[in-house]
Amino acid sequence: MAIYSHSQLSMYEDCPLKYKLCYRDKIKREEEGIEAFLGQMVHETLKKCYDDLRFTKVNSLSDLLAYYNKIWRESWHDSIFIVRQELEQEHYRALGEKLIKTYYKRYSPFDPDITIGTEVSLNFSLDDESKYRMRGYIDRLSRTEDDIYGIHDYKTSAYLPGQQEVDKDRQLGLYHIGVQKRWPDVENIRLIWHYLAFDTELVSYRTPEAISSLVQDTKRLIDEIESTQDFPPKESRLCEWCEYPDLCPRRKHFFKVEALPVNEYLNEPGVVLINKYVELKERESEIEEEMGKVKEAILDYARREEVEVIKGSDRKARVRFDKRLKFPGKNEEERQELDNTIIEAGKWMEASQLDTASLVRVMEQGLWNKELIDQVMRYGRIEESSSVHISKLKDEEK
Ligand code: SF4
Repeated sequence: MAIYSHSQLSMYEDCPLKYKLCYRDKIKREEEGIEAFLGQMVHETLKKCYDDLRFTKVNSLSDLLAYYNKIWRESWHDSIFIVRQELEQEHYRALGEKLIKTYYKRYSPFDPDITIGTEVSLNFSLDDESKYRMRGYIDRLSRTEDDIYGIHDYKTSAYLPGQQEVDKDRQLGLYHIGVQKRWPDVENIRLIWHYLAFDTELVSYRTPEAISSLVQDTKRLIDEIESTQDFPPKESRLCEWCEYPDLCPRRKHFFKVEALPVNEYLNEPGVVLINKYVELKERESEIEEEMGKVKEAILDYARREEVEVIKGSDRKARVRFDKRLKFPGKNEEERQELDNTIIEAGKWMEASQLDTASLVRVMEQGLWNKELIDQVMRYGRIEESSSVHISKLKDEEK
């Protein structure tokens, strides 16, 4: 089995197709979002702060900012993209400075604990057979005088999670396991997130029960990733930062036409077809409304004139007024009562039919035992269907 990291698992959960392109097909991309670049520069600066401290050097804030700006300049490359069009590189660079200043103000002179390491590499297994192998990097690992180990993670995002969320966080939970595997005598571990943009520290602990359920959940997820053949695209706001829009069926066409000048864009065959389809769809609803009105008028006419057939220029219309027996539909309130009445009378088999839509749901979700599913599936067949669904473009897609 492959070695997994938390971010690899998260990518699969966020979008299986992106995961496949990145980790199975190993398609490398130069592009990176500026948020990731900013995070990396801030992480490297804080790493320097603690690395130098181990050699007794306490950097001043201006030393650290100078270092940050130097690596920002040296590492900047043309494939860094900015999604938020109202912002520029300088806004992000200045934000990074602000985050470092906030951290510095809060923690200098950085001496309440011993730094064991920065960017501490972990390689460990979730099981004794080394089947489920994990890897990761701890931003900073520390130890206090009373032997409490701290797994620190720097966050530069503009989102502050709640306590419940960090109590369930997989990444630092996995690092907790990794630290205990590497140093089996370590007992007390604190998980600490430094949310720099909020000048906030969130802390969480893991009980042995929480660790064991994390191991089970992670193994289950790895089993799913290893066995699946299906990597569907899963759209979300993260698509804006995806490096593979040109390979994704949900974004490929956007990627292709966004680069075209307006005149070529409007003549691109896909754009032409959709514009035509939307135009017809709009007329279709107008026509449907109009037809409804005319149909009502025909029925009124037939009632008034007491006729069943009405003659037009080259067609005629037969009008029928039927009365049909109806029972409550599946989602109507009285349906359950009706079902119960028939079941209690022992007549269910005479009046009921198999609900094949419910059966499809049972099969797709594997709700019955495997033997029965296999038996039923002998009668199932895959039929292709197609549809075209029109929706409005979101602001960021325009
Ligand atoms: S664009 Fe969105 S849906 Fe497509 S691969 Fe990327 S993340 Fe997945």
